Amino acid sequence: MTDSNVSTANPAGLKRYPVLIAGGGPVGLALAIELGWRGIHCLVVEQGDGTVDFPTTNLANTRTCEHLRRWGLADRMRYDSGYPTDYPRNYVFVTRMNGYEVARFDHPSPPPPLDHGLYVPSTWPGVRAPHVWLRDGRSTLDLFGKGFTLLVLSSQGIDGSAFTDAARQAGLPLDIVSLDELQVREVYERPLVLVRPDGHVAWRGDAVPANAPEIIDQVRGARQ
Ligand SMILES: Cc1cc2nc3c(=O)[nH]c(=O)nc-3n(C[C@H](O)[C@H](O)[C@H](O)COP(=O)(O)OP(=O)(O)OC[C@H]3O[C@@H](n4cnc5c(N)ncnc54)[C@H](O)[C@@H]3O)c2cc1C
Repeated sequence: MTDSNVSTANPAGLKRYPVLIAGGGPVGLALAIELGWRGIHCLVVEQGDGTVDFPTTNLANTRTCEHLRRWGLADRMRYDSGYPTDYPRNYVFVTRMNGYEVARFDHPSPPPPLDHGLYVPSTWPGVRAPHVWLRDGRSTLDLFGKGFTLLVLSSQGIDGSAFTDAARQAGLPLDIVSLDELQVREVYERPLVLVRPDGHVAWRGDAVPANAPEIIDQVRGARQ
């Protein structure tokens, strides 16, 4: 049992509460916080011991985040929820594990925490693609500038022609640069990173997606 206000609950039930909340799940606890905040006594009764065997929250929607911000918990939810910040939680629908991809909902991981005094190299879309020295003495920054650049950072070799075909059809200048350099792979976080002519990351991924033409349309501003 949890008393949401400062007065101690009487286990014998002699104390009267205007509100009894059955269940200490997200709804019960949120209600208790909100009532407690407004000075309304309530008692939460929970049949379990609070142990969560099977966490179900993969994503928190906008409204949930509004509450979390108000309660001062948003950053803990975002950065301390068990997933590393560069861990995407995409949904991929496939005919079978080694079959065809039918649809994909991208649920990217949160961007790194914003700290103006701290520079964290990242390829989170929207940031400047980071500098890494290449084996031949150039910087990764030397690779960008003329048109779009799709970096393929894999020792396996990835066929990026879906991007080049889509770009050619749209009249978008796009070059593929393949690099098999461990340090670049580590800093760039993903094997595929699409960089704009101004050096900002437009998209990144683990594999060439089925909707490469849509991504090309989006990064060239022809689609929202
Ligand atoms: C597989 C799965 C994935 C999900 N993914 C997401 C997600 O990514 N994002 C999201 O926002 N939501 C997600 N949800 C939904 C989310 O988990 C629920 O909407 C949320 O848990 C509902 O909260 P609740 O407090 O109403 O109920 P519950 O979480 O079910 O909590 C009810 C609580 O009441 C207790 N209780 C029940 N009866 C009694 C009783 N008689 N006396 C005392 N205690 C009692 C139970 O022990 C439990 O602790 C997911 C759900 C599932 C099943």
